[in-house]
Amino acid sequence: MSSTIPLDLPRAADTLEARRFQVFTARDLDRIPGLDRMSAEQRFAMQVVAQVLPFRVNEYVVNELIDWDRVPDDPIYQLVFPQRGMLSPENFDRMANALRGNADRAEIQRLAQSIRATLNPHPAGQMELNVPRHEGEKVEGMQHKYRETVLFFPSQGQVCHSYCTFCFRWAQFVGDKELRFASNEAEQLLDYLRSHREVSDLLVTGGDPMVMKTRNLAQYLEPLLERGLDHVQTIRIGTKALTFWPYRFVTDRDSDDLLRLLDHLVAAGKHVAVMAHYNHPQELSTPIAEEAIRRLRATGVEIRSQGPLLNHINNDAAAWAVLWRTQVRLGIIPYYMFVERDTGARRYFEVPLAQAWEVYRGAMQRVSGLGRTARGPSMSADPGKVEIQGVTEIHGEKVFVLRFLQGRNPDWVQRPFFARFDPDATWLNQLRPAFGEPEFFFEREYRSMIATAKAG
Ligand SMILES: *Cc1c(COP(=O)(O)O)cnc(C)c1O
Repeated sequence: MSSTIPLDLPRAADTLEARRFQVFTARDLDRIPGLDRMSAEQRFAMQVVAQVLPFRVNEYVVNELIDWDRVPDDPIYQLVFPQRGMLSPENFDRMANALRGNADRAEIQRLAQSIRATLNPHPAGQMELNVPRHEGEKVEGMQHKYRETVLFFPSQGQVCHSYCTFCFRWAQFVGDKELRFASNEAEQLLDYLRSHREVSDLLVTGGDPMVMKTRNLAQYLEPLLERGLDHVQTIRIGTKALTFWPYRFVTDRDSDDLLRLLDHLVAAGKHVAVMAHYNHPQELSTPIAEEAIRRLRATGVEIRSQGPLLNHINNDAAAWAVLWRTQVRLGIIPYYMFVERDTGARRYFEVPLAQAWEVYRGAMQRVSGLGRTARGPSMSADPGKVEIQGVTEIHGEKVFVLRFLQGRNPDWVQRPFFARFDPDATWLNQLRPAFGEPEFFFEREYRSMIATAKAG
């Protein structure tokens, strides 16, 4: 593999020494530096919640990103550490009583499973709808919902360097992993892409693909340079490693190999986009985080940022404005602000749509045009990605103005539509059409798509 750019860019070697990746899980809660400041009751509450929701944090996040003088309000602390309010009072008490009563491991597991089952409803038809088929067979580890873009979940990339408390993919980090390792999954992916010329973007996601060794990542990405795959012009990699483990791009043993791989893909003519998950400017506050961004950009990769709006973490226009301004300064392109979707701790994090729009608008007003590339607030809902464009009044009726940024039917994209204003609504399925209309314009067609998928 040849490199077209000098990757031995000057490193601030004195200050940016390699760091050993060291991780804490629920079993280690008592050993985490910083937590000794908490009361016994607070620590117990964490134990309770961590039995149900996934918990994993690494030493860099604990020591460099969290401001322990501001705990429990610190946004990064809220981003990774379990909090009492993340379970309903009933579920919290059930688990707390089990722990206090010294229930055995198996009982706790059973209780945790039964609580989780109430937290993560997966409507069957909708799941079916996203799994693509190739020559009649379901292709595991992939989703193809929007025409241009295929999502791929490499099986070795289904964990993260730390877990976010609000993760909507949380269920895969607890209990049984049904993401089986298929040794031929790279072949399946490539076969599928070869026969789908309409696909221009491959989005490799997880978990976090950046937990993979470079040589494993290369096994999926290098073959995309084959001639039969010219139509796949963009390779996106979804990651939170720029926050949780920027050393991945700077001092890890195969960091340079990773940058060479990305450089090679760019030099061969692909658009490579690192889709970086960010929630708060504090994630960008360390020299290593900046260095990782600088080195990535030196390969010709674009970094685009996205992340959900979350109560307790970033429900604040000023924080988003600083985040976007900092990103623009560092060469990152703001891409999406999401509305938090269904997740284990949804009640704790959700923000009404009306308020989400106020936060978005407030942030937009504080940044220059280069920061206004972030679209949102956007709901990744079953029919498509729906953006809240604003709140206004039409002929005396207060309404939300909405539009599809992505739709299961591309024809839905960019069509404005209207919902009755509801100050408490937090998701598309709680909205009703404005002007007394019986349903939204896409609903009939969407229902028939589900029916067809169920029948198939
Ligand atoms: C968001 C998303 C995409 C990518 O959409 P863009 O608007 O191109 O960023 C692709 N597939 C699924 C399932 C998505 O949720």
